[in-house]
Amino acid sequence: MSLQSRVVVLGGGIAGCASALALAGRGVNVTLLEASNRLGGRFNSIKISGLNRQIDSTQNVIFRTYSRFLQLLATCEVRDVVKLQDSTMLPFLEVGEGRISTIHSGKLPPPNHLTTAFLNASFLGLVDKMAMQKAVKAIQSTTEEQRRELDDLTFLQWLEDNGQSKRAIARFWNPIIRLALNINSAQASAASAIFLFNKAFFSQVDTFDVGCFTTDFTQAVSSALRRTLAAAGVEVHLSTSATSLFRESGKVTGVNTIDGFHAASTVIICTPITATARLLTGSTASLASHDVAERLAKLGNTSQIGIHAFHEGPVLPDGTPFVICCDEPLIQMLFDRSGELDDGERGGLPGHWISSPVSYADPYIDWADELIRNEYKRVIETAFPQSPALIDFRVVRINRATTALMAGSQRLRPNPLDAGEGVILGGDWINIDWPSTLEASTRSGLTAAATYLELNGVRDFTGWHHDDSWLDWPNSPNRGDKDWRVWK
Ligand SMILES: Cc1cc2nc3c(=O)[nH]c(=O)nc-3n(C[C@H](O)[C@H](O)[C@H](O)COP(=O)(O)OP(=O)(O)OC[C@H]3O[C@@H](n4cnc5c(N)ncnc54)[C@H](O)[C@@H]3O)c2cc1C
Repeated sequence: MSLQSRVVVLGGGIAGCASALALAGRGVNVTLLEASNRLGGRFNSIKISGLNRQIDSTQNVIFRTYSRFLQLLATCEVRDVVKLQDSTMLPFLEVGEGRISTIHSGKLPPPNHLTTAFLNASFLGLVDKMAMQKAVKAIQSTTEEQRRELDDLTFLQWLEDNGQSKRAIARFWNPIIRLALNINSAQASAASAIFLFNKAFFSQVDTFDVGCFTTDFTQAVSSALRRTLAAAGVEVHLSTSATSLFRESGKVTGVNTIDGFHAASTVIICTPITATARLLTGSTASLASHDVAERLAKLGNTSQIGIHAFHEGPVLPDGTPFVICCDEPLIQMLFDRSGELDDGERGGLPGHWISSPVSYADPYIDWADELIRNEYKRVIETAFPQSPALIDFRVVRINRATTALMAGSQRLRPNPLDAGEGVILGGDWINIDWPSTLEASTRSGLTAAATYLELNGVRDFTGWHHDDSWLDWPNSPNRGDKDWRVWK
């Protein structure tokens, strides 16, 4: 790498920050341009009128399988902002009965580590459970080639073809897919869904361990990223929107912004799909660049709603940090957000906080707050008749929250070098199989960084794959790792 070379990374979300940090760690000169006035990207904490502090727009769910994202947190020295279960525990609530069945990991090796708990669970019948065992086996035995061929099929079709009952689909498969892909099984790509269950959830005994944030996300992550990027020597420009790419002789050699021009030996693009598609088009852009823009435009997004309810006291039974609500399309999950927060973080809230994230919220995005509140109250009063009174209720709507991995979406996701022109692509939408999550964004940003390093002859990164640990960063946590906090 020549001393004059400077990589310009566009977008200061998790992907852009991960990429910039990884490159700076290898001695690359990096400039990071971010359109907004903070780092961290599209998941953020917001100020709501009448509340005395900012809160996350909706619940942020992570898993132990988010190994690259957890490595990023460790690199920023903010391991304490998350807590992770030290044994998988997924409580399912039958709202009508107020009954909770908890799926927890047992002694059998994966993929059967959850089997005993499933067999004892009341929210599914024996026939559902026997069929589910077969589906887990079918998922496990699907080769990578076969999986990729399933991209045009919806996951619902795959589940039906594999003998899954309506109840198992409604109460287990769909809630997990909706949470992870932000889309229903009826639309989701079977290839993406099978990837998720196979790789992320059933592959190892601890991958399904759920995690939460102990403070608000922006406070926790944004300032830590800023600090760590500065220490690594990355030049960060906030409130600096890239307006177009500058091209000379078929190669991108700079970026125009609202504040002027930034020369670049390489540009890494980690902006959301709409902004990226805009940057990749224009009269001087190449055919390859236009082609990527078109594919991204076809990918599309789905929305989320964050429901924030404040009660006079705790609502969920002691020892139950969250529940997945069976057969409830709107009130899908309930998290005891007050219980997740550190003691010093609960100030400024009007009461005990229950956070209820609505994944794939597109059908409900126009519902009035009152209607959503009525649904929430119905669920709470049915399942927990003795629950403390509701004091305050807020609804946050987030359009275009995540990339939609519909059937047929796999072929639309570009590889890092697909746009040509010397540009490297690195947002959470690149072709790495992972759904649009904090983990996908970290892996994408690192993939872009590794692509640059490999192209520039750095041997350590020849053939680097995002399943590999990022060599320069602390390890991601195993169960029992004393440096990380446990979510009880
Ligand atoms: C409401 C919501 C809930 C979510 N819940 C979860 C969850 O529970 N668990 C989970 O793992 N994931 C969740 N996600 C998904 C996760 O947050 C995203 O996948 C991830 O943050 C995407 O990171 P990114 O860096 O690829 O993109 P982004 O976060 O979108 O970052 C891109 C950055 O580029 C900037 N930008 C845009 N245009 C320009 C320009 N022209 N020039 C310069 N900069 C520009 C933007 O301001 C932004 O900061 C959620 C997302 C949302 C919105």
